[in-house]
Amino acid sequence: MQLKLRFLGAAQNVTGSRHLLEANGTRILVDCGLYQERDFKARNWEPFDVPPESIDAVLLTHAHLDHCGLLPKLVRDGFKGKIYCTAATSEIARIILLDAAHLQEEDAEYKRRRHEREGRKGPYPDVPLYTTADAETSFPLFTPVRYKQPVEIGDGIEARFCDAGHVLGSSIIKVTVRQNGKTRSVLFSGDIGRPHRPIVRDPTYVDEADYILVESTYGDRIHQGREDTKKSIADVINSTKTAGGNIIVPSFALERSQEVLYYINELLLEDAIPHIMVFLDSPMASSITKVFQHHPELFDEEMKKFVSRHESPFKFAGLKMVETTKESKAINHIKGTVMVIAGSGMCTGGRIKHHLVNNINRPESTIMFVGYQAIGTLGRRIVNGEKEVRILGQKRPVMANVVQINGFSAHADKEELAQWLSGLKNPPRKLFVVHGESDSAKHFGHYIREKTGWNVAVPAYKDEVVLD
Ligand SMILES: [Zn+2]
Repeated sequence: MQLKLRFLGAAQNVTGSRHLLEANGTRILVDCGLYQERDFKARNWEPFDVPPESIDAVLLTHAHLDHCGLLPKLVRDGFKGKIYCTAATSEIARIILLDAAHLQEEDAEYKRRRHEREGRKGPYPDVPLYTTADAETSFPLFTPVRYKQPVEIGDGIEARFCDAGHVLGSSIIKVTVRQNGKTRSVLFSGDIGRPHRPIVRDPTYVDEADYILVESTYGDRIHQGREDTKKSIADVINSTKTAGGNIIVPSFALERSQEVLYYINELLLEDAIPHIMVFLDSPMASSITKVFQHHPELFDEEMKKFVSRHESPFKFAGLKMVETTKESKAINHIKGTVMVIAGSGMCTGGRIKHHLVNNINRPESTIMFVGYQAIGTLGRRIVNGEKEVRILGQKRPVMANVVQINGFSAHADKEELAQWLSGLKNPPRKLFVVHGESDSAKHFGHYIREKTGWNVAVPAYKDEVVLD
């Protein structure tokens, strides 16, 4: 038997997930993600390591851009096979890929104009990485699979998807290869969620695998703030209502926005907060929320109970899904306290900027962060307590109340990852630690090696291993 594995992304870094598995003459790409770290973005423009037409199938763990964001380029450059993923992942990926393609087009146009004005050339051609048309071409290749149902991928090769509990439709994928009476399995963790999160189920435990690729985003950290997330949100709403300001929530369109709505709905039902108007001012988040409503079968028990009692957690008096920019701007004229949930999650673009402009200089308003803010983003500067920030070309004093709500992470931490691995009945032949910054991946690899005595490796970009 000869199995070959190549690490083409998320190897000692977090984004750009791509793993190529070759077995029985079949090439399988697990995830085809976009690099988002500034240092690695150039890799998005490089040709794929193997000709895309030579890849037989793609297995997609979930719809985050760092896992699916390069699919339109793969298809444009010649890939013709099937893209296997859950139905929810395929529906969310379409929304996310169209948005990404649109941003790529805008970005290219902006650069073209700037370079023309400045009479110079940038490091890459001023063309989009891929277009909306490229994204649309990839959609017919999406092939929905069901959790726990084996799917035949190629000669003697079977894949099985199980719930990863990370975002709606997310999967852990186990590939089993049979050759000359011998069997080997490779388990791809994708992104592993945390137990006891709202809406999605807990991650599935896997009891057996020969080789494992495990993520390590938080492989060197224990999540802080196991404080009551819902209570923290209630406190913000109540104090801001008393002060007479607005609550501005920069949020990611997938999972985080739905979680915030879920908590607000519960708080309203418990009578713990006043009835205020809540605007979900993100067409992308609204579209993704509709996908959630199509897939109640993916909810955890608590959410199913909620749905059976109250219909939908994404519908309540006072909630408005904002579609047009005109409607978005009209929010500013409403008197009294409102909550606005808008993208982007780190305040790097999108409608959130207008809402920040209208509220950041108001001491009675609150900016409520519910997600991680990367270094260098506007969100990070506000969270760090800078007294003045530049938004839409102007310096503005930060006078609003700034609150970071913890407990929203969709990634398992060091102990939760170790707990997930402890589901294995026997040690794997080898564990590969991926999808974490170098320090985090190495720290977690060392930790598991010490704890279990397993054979652990932390592969680097483009490493290739033969699995026997
Ligand atoms: Zn993810």
